[in-house]
Amino acid sequence: MSILHILGFIWCIPNSLIGFIVYLFTFGSSITEFKSKPYPHIEVIMNNKGTVYKIFKFISGGLAGFTIGSFIFICYENYCERLLKHELEHVRQNMVYGIFKIPLYYLFGAIAFLQGKRPYMDNYFELLAQDAEIR
Ligand SMILES: [Zn+2]
Repeated sequence: MSILHILGFIWCIPNSLIGFIVYLFTFGSSITEFKSKPYPHIEVIMNNKGTVYKIFKFISGGLAGFTIGSFIFICYENYCERLLKHELEHVRQNMVYGIFKIPLYYLFGAIAFLQGKRPYMDNYFELLAQDAEIR
């Protein structure tokens, strides 16, 4: 773990606090591990019994996971290397952009929408994460 990774981990603590609050609602329905590679992050594998899982499945329209700060939340049935690489790219983005990541994410979504593209799939941050999946 480099000094830049540690600084990035600290820089995204405000976002990670939101992730931590969401994490609290997965108690009893998740397997959680702190991992340091490729960056310091927390992986939360959710089973189908938890509140966060059910809410996420209801609103996500089939998505398999999400990342808030350095917390990665993945639905157990979708856990795979490719998805993990996708979510790890979002962790990296959070470590680079810190508190600006969430407003920038919605700004890029709005820009994509105004260009007649899809706000989610054509969002700059999602395109980078899709590239990371196959790296
Ligand atoms: Zn994504």
